[in-house]
Amino acid sequence: MTAKADYVRAHAPAGAFGHTCHWPGCAAEVPPAMWGCKAHWYRLPFALRQRIWRAYEPGQEITKRPSAQYLAVAKDVEAWIAANAAPDLFASAPPAPQPAADQDHHTAHRGAFEREDG
Ligand SMILES: [Zn+2]
Repeated sequence: MTAKADYVRAHAPAGAFGHTCHWPGCAAEVPPAMWGCKAHWYRLPFALRQRIWRAYEPGQEITKRPSAQYLAVAKDVEAWIAANAAPDLFASAPPAPQPAADQDHHTAHRGAFEREDG
């Protein structure tokens, strides 16, 4: 029963990925045989993770022909993210508030020390 896990491990050498996390907006590189980065994978509900795992077929990332079942699950995952985690997508890039210009506060006091003692 561990064949699939072994396959994924065998195809997940550190480094040579070129495949990114399926979480919208996440650019983390992950092994092609994996859905996404660890952080986002575990953000998904357990039931969804199980469905992805069950639908995944070893080799689909090579043939580029995932099963219809996998595609259906992938759609459900996208829908779940949109419904449950969408605010997250925008939280990473908050608008930077521009501080109000505060410049004519100090004016040079020229001549203050130009006293003539004499
Ligand atoms: Zn990710």
